[in-house]
Amino acid sequence: MNDIHRDITFDNFCVLRFDQAGASANLFSPETLAELNAHLDDIVANPSLRGVAFISDKERVFHAGADLRGLEKMDAEGLRHFLEQGQSVFNRIAHLKIPTVAAIHGVCLGGGCELSLACTYRIATPDHVTKIGLPETHLGILPAWGGSTRLPRLIGATRALKIILAGQTPSAKQALRYGMIDAIAPRELLLSAALRMLTQGRPRRKDWKLYPLVNRITARLIAPTVRAKVRKQTRGHYPANTKAAEVILASARSSETESLARERKALLELAAGDVCKNLIRLFFMSERARKPEGPKALPIERALVIGAGVMGSGIAEWLAARGVRVILRDIDPKFIARGLDRIRKLFADRRVFTEKEARDAMDRISPAVGEVPMNQVELVIEAAVETIDAKKQIFAALDQQARREDTILATNTSALSLDEIAGATKNPARVVGIHFFNPVHKMQLVEVVAGARTAPDVVRRAVHFVQQVGKLPVVVKDSPGFLVNRVLTPYLLEAGLLFEKGARAEDIDEAMLDFGMPMGPLRLIDEVGVDIALHVSNTLASKFGDRLHVPSCLGEMVRAGWLGKKSGRGFYVYDSKKATVHAAMDSLRRGNSAAGLPRSDLQLRLALLLANESARCFEEQVVADATTVDFAIVMGTGFAPFRGGPLRFADAFGLSKAVTELERLTRESGPHFTPSPLLKKLASEGKRFHEN
Ligand code: NAD
Repeated sequence: MNDIHRDITFDNFCVLRFDQAGASANLFSPETLAELNAHLDDIVANPSLRGVAFISDKERVFHAGADLRGLEKMDAEGLRHFLEQGQSVFNRIAHLKIPTVAAIHGVCLGGGCELSLACTYRIATPDHVTKIGLPETHLGILPAWGGSTRLPRLIGATRALKIILAGQTPSAKQALRYGMIDAIAPRELLLSAALRMLTQGRPRRKDWKLYPLVNRITARLIAPTVRAKVRKQTRGHYPANTKAAEVILASARSSETESLARERKALLELAAGDVCKNLIRLFFMSERARKPEGPKALPIERALVIGAGVMGSGIAEWLAARGVRVILRDIDPKFIARGLDRIRKLFADRRVFTEKEARDAMDRISPAVGEVPMNQVELVIEAAVETIDAKKQIFAALDQQARREDTILATNTSALSLDEIAGATKNPARVVGIHFFNPVHKMQLVEVVAGARTAPDVVRRAVHFVQQVGKLPVVVKDSPGFLVNRVLTPYLLEAGLLFEKGARAEDIDEAMLDFGMPMGPLRLIDEVGVDIALHVSNTLASKFGDRLHVPSCLGEMVRAGWLGKKSGRGFYVYDSKKATVHAAMDSLRRGNSAAGLPRSDLQLRLALLLANESARCFEEQVVADATTVDFAIVMGTGFAPFRGGPLRFADAFGLSKAVTELERLTRESGPHFTPSPLLKKLASEGKRFHEN
């Protein structure tokens, strides 16, 4: 193995450079840890050395921590050994007699960050790519190569808890403010500045002697609040946060050795659980979705976005920020002006864009009213009104205007038939769906809709374009509502029906927050817009007949102008910071058969509908496989990630039990609970959606 290179400077400083062969990132495996350990042997054996600097030769990565692929394959014994090995190597670094420094450019995450914490000093570049942190809790584990022990000792338990529990990865500037690093230096001076730090010997931190005592007292004082907060935030679903909090709090009153042992024990327990396995699976899925497969398509440089409304302006902003030149077209200058205002607001966020980045991106957007020359346009994304006639008209005209045969014509439609839209063109092979979700700058998932006549190469280029702009594509078949809206619709409608039949809005929403959703379904309808939710529901209901039951309260809300958050009134009232229940909605109730239902019953109905519709989508091959269904539903709806997706949830719940419950609910409440044929088949054969 030769992933770490050693140089000795003329003035006897040792420089260890991470540069994993054939990879874009540096990762720790048992072999690289052994290699690092061998370097440490040589360093200890050389008494003339005055200090050690760790640096990376990679463009964007200092060190990305443990290799999760390898980790996934280890059994409990292998994992125990790997943990001990990492801790022991980092302990050697921490206890070297000579000073050490981590010179950080690029991401410094997990085990990489823990290595830096074992050093005497840390210095980092101010570049955007530099992020320093411990995101382990996102994967259902905790930092266990000394991170949960050393970070609180370095920056105090309170701040360390915040970083580790939220899995934060601060920029260099923030990390300096938090005390995680000691200095910032430009990339070209990084190594020389780092070596200069080594000449200072060991640091004399102020209040060094008092610090452990202060930390101990603080930890004891904050413990009850921390525990309550973790309980509230995770609703008991994320054991890694609970365990990390306990290890960090205990670390303040124990020796380093004791605390490291606690880290190891906690990690081994977490790694054996389903939550960790589900979260790591989702992580791999999103890594896979990020990477282009097959021959790489040429990047899109120029795009035309039609419609400067909520979606069109959001898409134009996102593309321009990633270097794509965009023509933003609408039918009226005032709609363009409104769209540009929305875009300016997004660019004004200085946490995301520097002034220069914002100016450059804004310069890439050219507004247009009416037709524009299209000889340079490689991709059109239509995001105009959601009516089939408007879309057909737009595509018929585009077909004429876009003379270049390789220009992709994409629609952002939420639920209309791609095939029908493509039918308005002479060349339906170049028509595809590229369905961004709202708000574009927050939602990572994009559905790439392959119509019956879309050319496979156009689908591939659309997928690569989505990856080019940093979103996660999932290819779906042209079918009503595609995947995400299709799965969400029966769930949202049932929430509306339950409300109509007397259940309290808070009970419905709390039931699903308890399940692990990021937002309750009625709150989600308000966020999406009651009019939009109704429009999508009606489109789907016209295709699925009695499998969808649209509650009449939605239509009445639209008539009353209660469109949700955007109009200030929906299931909730949005007058103050905190949404409150909209009392006038009581006038839209019909009966009270759901009034007394306990939250557990509400949750069961709603969760089973999510799983059942996902099963139907899998059965109809809307998406290629069960793993992708799960991934897309987690990314597109926020479905409780710790459950691993709706089909994994069904597996864990028990397919036979799910069928029995759905059949009971069909008898009691109607045909919209009818179990999917695939669900019934798998249940009767004693199989599961996922066999591992
Ligand atoms: P919107 O009403 O906010 O904006 C539509 C814009 O298109 C308006 O500014 C309108 O003037 C313009 N427009 C209409 N006809 C046009 C034409 N012929 N040429 C150019 N511009 C024209 O709508 P929206 O919410 O941004 O939705 C746009 C599309 O995106 C729809 O197909 C919708 O289903 C889809 N979508 C919406 C959401 C959402 O949550 N809003 C999410 C995903 C997808």
